[in-house]
Amino acid sequence: MKVIIVGGVAGGASCAARLRRLDEKADILMVERGPYVSYANCGLPYHVGGVIEKESSLLVSTEQTFRTTFGIDCRTRSEVIAVSPKAKTVELKNHETGQVTTEKYDKLVLSPGAAPIRPPLPGIDLPGVFSVRTVPDAREIREWIDRGAIESAGEHAAPGFEPLAKSKRAVVVGGGFIGLEMAENLVHRGLEVTLVEMLDQVMPPLDLECARVVERHLEQHGVRLALNDAVAGFRQTASGSLEVLTKSGKAYPADIVILAIGVRPETALAKAAGLEIGQRGGIRVDEHMRTSDPDIFAVGDAVEVKDFVTGEWTLIPLAGPANRQGRIAADVIAGRDSRFRGTQGTSVVGVFGATVAQTGANEKTLVRMGHKDYEKVYLFPNSHAGYYPGARTIALKVIFRKSDGRLLGAQALGLDGVEKRIDALAMGIQMGATVYDLEEAELCYAPPFGSAKDPVNFAGMVPADILRGDMPICHWPAVAGQFLLDVRNPPEIAVEPVPGTVNIPMPELRARLGELPRDREILVICRSSQRAYYATRILLQNGFKARNLIGGTMSRSMLQAK
Ligand code: FAD
Repeated sequence: MKVIIVGGVAGGASCAARLRRLDEKADILMVERGPYVSYANCGLPYHVGGVIEKESSLLVSTEQTFRTTFGIDCRTRSEVIAVSPKAKTVELKNHETGQVTTEKYDKLVLSPGAAPIRPPLPGIDLPGVFSVRTVPDAREIREWIDRGAIESAGEHAAPGFEPLAKSKRAVVVGGGFIGLEMAENLVHRGLEVTLVEMLDQVMPPLDLECARVVERHLEQHGVRLALNDAVAGFRQTASGSLEVLTKSGKAYPADIVILAIGVRPETALAKAAGLEIGQRGGIRVDEHMRTSDPDIFAVGDAVEVKDFVTGEWTLIPLAGPANRQGRIAADVIAGRDSRFRGTQGTSVVGVFGATVAQTGANEKTLVRMGHKDYEKVYLFPNSHAGYYPGARTIALKVIFRKSDGRLLGAQALGLDGVEKRIDALAMGIQMGATVYDLEEAELCYAPPFGSAKDPVNFAGMVPADILRGDMPICHWPAVAGQFLLDVRNPPEIAVEPVPGTVNIPMPELRARLGELPRDREILVICRSSQRAYYATRILLQNGFKARNLIGGTMSRSMLQAK
């Protein structure tokens, strides 16, 4: 059996290596257009920032390793330029010799990835405007930063003048995870960074109130944000530096511009071969990663897949799904019945020491889809036992189905322990877990690592309290005209007052119940809603009508920033 794999990085390389492990006899040809196979594109921003100093560290495996260890015919600088599904052949162009050859296949796997979007804006091809996809891209960006934009205009050569400084100002266009990683790494390199984003928020997978926390953190670390403003074009000034022009009429000066406005599935080959393309513009595949042609498979960023939670078709350009899909395609080619379960978009990004992670559906997607059967909670647990040094607060938003408690999605932000909680919740979502399952999850605990009731347990306990009717809740900002009981201590209130509240500190509540109305509903507030929970329980058991304002003043400050 001859198997040709197009693309030699995440999906392609994973498919090739798995297939060899399953079938010693298969004749496997892996073709890669670029100079490297199996390189760490996820590490590129950190190489630009100097965190990963050596370029060679990004090369996870080599053409030679694929040949010797796996017995795979691996060809770099070679591009598949056409596919003939009827003849079961591909046209292969060797970019070093220019030679085009025809190769027959029994099975073909497409893993061509997705290309950075570069809209046809004026000046987009000016020197100094970069995208980040490949190792050579990162190399050019590093060189450009070191050399300085001005040098390209030749000004440093003027007699009597010192060479002008390295690049100082960067504009990153796009506030997704690649844009944020690039912004952070350019700051590490000493550049002043402005991040221009067309939407009203960074990190589109997050709900707005969670994104606002990330934005404040970016600003605290010196990144200037220009949200709600789309780039209209790029201009070179007389001094040789650049200006990024936006639709609002602003001009942001820059010595270097990084475009990170998303990626588009590479579907040219698939389209030309007559394969079905889905509604989101990716190659349509079934759960076996088979395209509309039974002998052609497609994986990775180029395909569209079902969202595991919402059931919608989606494009999720992430390395985890690409690797798993490559493995599944290999399994199926080798005769196994492996299936892709769909994706839930589990992702994480580091931003100046903070971690932002999410999995499953966000609230804005549920609202867009018209879902009514969901509830959300905001929790602020510690990353590990509060009494052990170094515990940090995690801000956690959990979304679950009201009718049966099924976990739908979660977003978390913090300085420690964030991604391990999202990983546990991600696994829960994939296994169809309910919040009642999370209550029972048995997780690691010792003081430096967690708590006897882990944040993942709380992500179940709090929603389960709501669903069982033990803790009715309400949300900011729908509190106007209501009776608000603040159970925080006076010093806390002095620091962060909530207007229009009656204050009875939690420890005094039992003794002061007589001060509260029995004919009105009482909405209870504290800082994180833990003490408000205790107070709500006291009130309910004493015949009052009460609800907990979930997330307390901490969620209020997130939501106020909206
Ligand atoms: P790719 O890995 O892009 O590989 C496709 C390859 O196919 C390319 O090398 C291309 O040259 C080759 N190719 C295309 N057409 C042809 C052809 N006709 N003939 C021969 N070869 C061809 N994901 C995460 O989960 N976490 C991260 O932290 C993360 N960080 C990232 C940072 C950056 C800067 C980038 C660019 C991506 C990042 N990703 C991250 C996304 C992740 O890298 C991709 O989802 C993953 O690589 C997709 O795998 P793929 O095989 O579909 O495509």
